[in-house]
Amino acid sequence: MVSATPAEQLAIVNIAAAGPSKLGNLKNLAGVSWWTEIGGSLLVSVTPAGLMKVKKTGFATNILASEIAADDLRVIVAAHDSKPLPAGSVTLADEGRIRLIEGDSGAIAVLDQMAAEKSPALGVFPVEAGRVVLQLQSNQTPTSKMSSRHAAMLTDAAGKVSRERWWGDVQKLAGWNRHISAAGNIQARDWIKSTLGAIPGMEVTVQEFKVQGRAAWNVVGILTGERLAQESGVPAAGDRGLLVVGGHFDSTSERTSSAAPGAEDNASGAAGVLELARVMAETPHSQDIIFVAFSGEEQGLYGSAAFVDELPDSEKERIRGVLTMDMIAYAKGGNTGPLAVLIETESEHAAFAKKFTDSAAAVTKLKVSTSYNPFGSDHVSFLDAGLPAILAIDADWNRYGDYHRSTDTPDKLTPELAHEILKMNAGALALMAH
Ligand SMILES: [Zn+2]
Repeated sequence: MVSATPAEQLAIVNIAAAGPSKLGNLKNLAGVSWWTEIGGSLLVSVTPAGLMKVKKTGFATNILASEIAADDLRVIVAAHDSKPLPAGSVTLADEGRIRLIEGDSGAIAVLDQMAAEKSPALGVFPVEAGRVVLQLQSNQTPTSKMSSRHAAMLTDAAGKVSRERWWGDVQKLAGWNRHISAAGNIQARDWIKSTLGAIPGMEVTVQEFKVQGRAAWNVVGILTGERLAQESGVPAAGDRGLLVVGGHFDSTSERTSSAAPGAEDNASGAAGVLELARVMAETPHSQDIIFVAFSGEEQGLYGSAAFVDELPDSEKERIRGVLTMDMIAYAKGGNTGPLAVLIETESEHAAFAKKFTDSAAAVTKLKVSTSYNPFGSDHVSFLDAGLPAILAIDADWNRYGDYHRSTDTPDKLTPELAHEILKMNAGALALMAH
């Protein structure tokens, strides 16, 4: 925890259009004693003289009331807009899935209790000096140019993604109630198994695990690296790297008895797993790639936790990276607004996440942000085991009014957004699997 000295003030500086070099200068300005970066907002503790300088540099600045201390602030993650925040809390910066809020002592106590209990509804984090919570792509230092050979590989893989095939799979999946207690969950499981199994070279198994005493199943397919490697010197089985691509296929709604089409959450991501499996089956790769449709996510990440638990250490050591997708097709403005994606990971895996940001810059028109406070989806099961993992999630999911409702149907989706996210993912996978 950090606190402002009495002579300093807390302020929020608008850095949405700063760019990496101006932002770097701002962070190092004399009088700025510490900062926390949250997307387009930079929270600073600053002296009066420093504040003058910040304003002179042309940044719009919102000075917080003098009685507000850093201890009164929290970073919260994954508060769906339908879930009210505790009474006595005020949003200071709204960056979609991530928000900076200020609370009175009662609100902060409620939030800290949620954090202590690891509430599945809300991730709650203190404000930390020098921490990048959420980073806009425009504020990231650009990566050096990739070779033309790599650029061609990336473009080739992205070009193989079919929006029509993905859309057909979304509609198929959304036709079943995929709640873990529903017969539709088993029908969807069997359909995913046969769909993955129809991809040339794919070996498919079903992994059973328990959710609160009830049987549930992940569907797991593997493409081994010797296929389509097209180059001599493909490593032997034990020496190959392993990539994992996953997304949950179970769904939920208001009551277990009502329909749970889960088109956005998460037919969109599960269909994404199937589409990337087809693309990678046709893309040269020397590493092994596992494609997995998880279940039991909505009850608390049970499927991905079981997958990680049962993976032998020798297999964990081979993992080069894990991509999970959860909700990749909702855009508040449809395809007329900006198409935006959030990549979520831990800061120690920033270099892994950058492969996706770079791919997005090369082959899509996506607006990308990267969050380093991971929360609430299957990527967390892998990150908790120390494995490099990212979640790709659309930037507007928390504004989706049909979230976890019987009305989460395909007509609410923007296929163009999912197509762009899948192109980003296919490009990054092609380079890593090579
Ligand atoms: Zn989900």
